[in-house]
Amino acid sequence: FTFEEMREGVEFAEKYGAKVFVATNIFAHNEDLSGLEAYLKGIQDAGVHAIIVADPVIIETCRRAAPRLEIHLSTQQSTMNRQAVQFWKEDGVDRVVLAREATMEEIIEIKQHVDIEIEVFVHGAMCSSYSGRCVLSNHFTDRDSNRGGCSQSCRWKYDLFTTEEDMEQAQVGIKEIPLFQADDNPFSMSSKDLGMIEHVPELIRAGVDSFKIEGRMKSVHYVATVVNAYRQAIDAYFADPEHYEMKPEWLYEIQKAANRPLNTGFFYDQPDHEDHIFEPEDKISPYDFVGVVMEYDDKTQTALIQQRNHFKPGQEVEFFGPQGTFFKQVVPELHSEDGQQLDAARHPLQLIRMKVEQPVKPLDLMRKKMGNK
Ligand code: SF4
Repeated sequence: FTFEEMREGVEFAEKYGAKVFVATNIFAHNEDLSGLEAYLKGIQDAGVHAIIVADPVIIETCRRAAPRLEIHLSTQQSTMNRQAVQFWKEDGVDRVVLAREATMEEIIEIKQHVDIEIEVFVHGAMCSSYSGRCVLSNHFTDRDSNRGGCSQSCRWKYDLFTTEEDMEQAQVGIKEIPLFQADDNPFSMSSKDLGMIEHVPELIRAGVDSFKIEGRMKSVHYVATVVNAYRQAIDAYFADPEHYEMKPEWLYEIQKAANRPLNTGFFYDQPDHEDHIFEPEDKISPYDFVGVVMEYDDKTQTALIQQRNHFKPGQEVEFFGPQGTFFKQVVPELHSEDGQQLDAARHPLQLIRMKVEQPVKPLDLMRKKMGNK
């Protein structure tokens, strides 16, 4: 992002009551530090609210050069005890994002002893190593996971051999690979994703100030769906804590966009073999994200939709949005912007006009069940 683009992003976010944090959470080498001061001043001037940071020298430079920026300690610092949290507080940190490996008990203890904002990951990918502190990606692809470049090598498919000799012979094609068992499944080291939607009240009661939902490299559809589900759970809890009940449809909603099995990470127990995905992932998400609402005309009940995936008349689609839009309808006639009838919306980002039976708002999303012919 340029600073100008950041400023535009901040203005957009503020219009919707959101804040913008910039991740500067690399483990910096000497060469990474040149231009740091100007960069931090630039993001402060762009109106960014906070930086997420792991390296002490970036914290120190921020305090000096861009004091209006809040400082959020990144999960990359692997903070899991109250003494460490106290240390970072005294160092001028405003919020600590705990390690994904911190347990619920540790979070409660930290909040009881240190008066500081605590953020925890509640949903998204986990690492097989301490969050990000891993060099698999560096070795295999020369992409540094601690400088934002992880290629997720742990999720690749690997062949397993019973002996080194078997491996060498397989490499030169002398014999078939004897995998760890007779079946032909490659092996993966991936952990299941974290999913804490069923434990929102416990997290709030533990004193957690902010929930982090992993969105890096995820689609708009995924982020919108998951955030929406957590927002509803949080709001329902605060509206009536005593009678709060987890609604199964929140989890069902997440499953519409998520494509990996979920668990509760380290919150309640040490993960074991049940918490790993040893076989290749089934990445199929049950819903396709097909469009974004750009405009809606109440009088004609017509929406202008930006195409994001193929859809056509006769298919059932579902609309959903942050302010509660949620309904299904069958796709009626489609028209291009200049009024030509279309047999399908087949071009990426194409603008399409279609009748929508209930009111929708700009940025509401439209999706369809996969396999919906
Ligand atoms: S390769 Fe996997 S374990 Fe390593 S940093 Fe990337 S996601 Fe984490």
